[in-house]
Amino acid sequence: HFRCRSAFKLLEIDDKFHLLQPGYGVVDCGAAPGAWSQVAVQRVNSDGAGESAAQNIPNMQQLISPFGTVVGIDLLNIPPLDGAHFLSSHDVTDPSTHTKLLELLPGGQAHVILSDMAPNASGFKEMDHERLIRMCFSLLDLAEKILKPGGSLICKYWDGALAQKLQEKLSGVFGSVRTLKPNASRKDSAEKYFFAQMYKKPMR
Ligand code: SAM
Repeated sequence: HFRCRSAFKLLEIDDKFHLLQPGYGVVDCGAAPGAWSQVAVQRVNSDGAGESAAQNIPNMQQLISPFGTVVGIDLLNIPPLDGAHFLSSHDVTDPSTHTKLLELLPGGQAHVILSDMAPNASGFKEMDHERLIRMCFSLLDLAEKILKPGGSLICKYWDGALAQKLQEKLSGVFGSVRTLKPNASRKDSAEKYFFAQMYKKPMR
């Protein structure tokens, strides 16, 4: 029932690290067709499904999950999904998108930024690598505006010469940064993910 097999990458990462908790605010960058958002909706309980399940069990009131928030963004159209708010035809790197996110997130803050964004591959490996890394750098501007201190970021990148630069930049503002290659990701693809935790808001 997932819109895309990419869901299994996020499920695998979240089963291991439990970064998506009920009640959390999540921004899903490059969300179309919406499979990662489907996973996020379930895990943060933004559709309230966890809540109604808990109400059917006597004496389980204390286990009732808080409601989370999921906002997905893509240049393309993202078909509607219960529990998610989608900004279709929006560019994640555009500051006007950031302004809309501030309005949609409770308190203007998110616990987690997810990015499975990728540009259309040109076929020129170095060029595609550089474009995607540049998009990842723009997530740091977004984080500065909307990510809670202590929050986390997952971002896809294509391995190459600039990956280390990105990792260093992430390490400057997050307490821990690790590289992930989920089993669900094709072994022969250059695709990897940085998982950065414990965000420290940079001093201005
Ligand atoms: N995680 C998604 C899912 O599970 O359904 C799949 C994401 S797909 C691999 C990458 C997406 O990134 C594409 O839909 C593309 O349109 C989007 N994208 C690329 N550049 C973007 C940008 N600047 N702003 C928003 N979305 C972007």
